[in-house]
Amino acid sequence: MTIADASFSQEDEKQILDSVTAWLEKEVRPVTKKYEQADEYPFDLVEQMKELGLFGLTIPAEYGGMGLPATTYVKIVTAIAEVFMSIGGIVNSHLMLGTLIFRFGTLAQKEYFLPKLAMGELRGALCLTEPDAGTDLQGIKTHARRDGDGYVLNGSKMWITNGMYGSLYAVLTKTDLSAKPAHKGMTMFLAERGDGFTVDRKLKKLGYRSVESVGLSFNDFRIPAERILGGVEGQGFQHAVGGLELGRINVAARGVGLANAALKDSIRYSQQRKTFGKPICEHQAIALKLGEMATRVEAARLLTNSAAEKYVRGERCDLEAGMAKLFASETALYCSQEAMRIHGGYGYSAEFDIERYYRDAPLMCIGEGTNEIQRIVIAKNLIKMYPA
Ligand SMILES: Cc1cc2nc3c(=O)[nH]c(=O)nc-3n(C[C@H](O)[C@H](O)[C@H](O)COP(=O)(O)OP(=O)(O)OC[C@H]3O[C@@H](n4cnc5c(N)ncnc54)[C@H](O)[C@@H]3O)c2cc1C
Repeated sequence: MTIADASFSQEDEKQILDSVTAWLEKEVRPVTKKYEQADEYPFDLVEQMKELGLFGLTIPAEYGGMGLPATTYVKIVTAIAEVFMSIGGIVNSHLMLGTLIFRFGTLAQKEYFLPKLAMGELRGALCLTEPDAGTDLQGIKTHARRDGDGYVLNGSKMWITNGMYGSLYAVLTKTDLSAKPAHKGMTMFLAERGDGFTVDRKLKKLGYRSVESVGLSFNDFRIPAERILGGVEGQGFQHAVGGLELGRINVAARGVGLANAALKDSIRYSQQRKTFGKPICEHQAIALKLGEMATRVEAARLLTNSAAEKYVRGERCDLEAGMAKLFASETALYCSQEAMRIHGGYGYSAEFDIERYYRDAPLMCIGEGTNEIQRIVIAKNLIKMYPA
């Protein structure tokens, strides 16, 4: 069932989606509860994901990937999130790193890293957040000091997806502590594991289990100067921000997938469960919930597709990506709660998937810029578009 050698035109989108969906139903759905409830890393699924070519979805074909457009990518992310949102995280952080290298890397960096990333031989993590700085990235403390023909990194990162089982880390650092504004002194490095790199702890989480989130640190970690993303100091903040549009579209797609799963489970269950002599979907209180959930899911999907289309056209889409991320993640939260109400006591049981959706959904309101920040980004864009 490999799709890695498929041609990646629009006409093949259906074939690719069918392959992914078949894999999700046959291999992933039956083991989701086992892995998620044990918070166990799904090594066998990761090997299958490599065979399917999922680690190269958006990496251009010239570098060994599938080169799919963001519009197809969001459909795949949505399909994965409908079944097991966590394994989407394993691919998404990795592809965010691939996108950063493709957009901002030197030719040598692209030629060295992208084919390895496309095959899943190297698997990527993005190291931006620190114990004392998440939203305010200019407040990070990780420092890269010039030393001969390289740099020495010191500092800690927090919440890093793929931090334990990944092997290539995009690390946001400060190379000039006195720069004003601070972002001018920030630099992103492409670090492979080596002496001075340690994973300090795996964080226990409400949801988004099976994929690891870790605290990690760099202690006198030496790295050559040619591992600066793009080869030039001082552009790290722009690189981090430059990846956010696709990152937000990707979180929106996850939200759509999770919300749709909650909706589908609710449509099915409400026809099977009877109270007072009829299926609960025939009680107006339940029908109202289904109607509201379905409408929000569709609106979230349209916002996400629209942001992805703009991204594919090469246009700035902070506004659209922010709106899609905000609305789709809140829709996931809303639908997971409504699904729990519709399922009554069973919704609260670990035997059903609803409680997992309910635990997974809040992450999407936090990651890739919290929803508070999305609202501010949207407002700033509007003020720029319509000056008084
Ligand atoms: C499961 C998980 C996986 C993650 N994976 C990664 C990863 O792979 N790589 C990575 O780098 N990071 C990762 N993160 C970190 C994530 O990106 C941050 O948690 C997020 O950016 C928020 O930062 P913070 O947690 O430090 O919150 P803070 O920045 O401390 O914010 C706390 C609260 O203050 C609000 N706030 C902050 N500033 C403002 C403002 N100016 N105006 C209004 N409100 C504001 C926020 O909205 C929030 O409500 C992950 C997080 C989680 C939970």
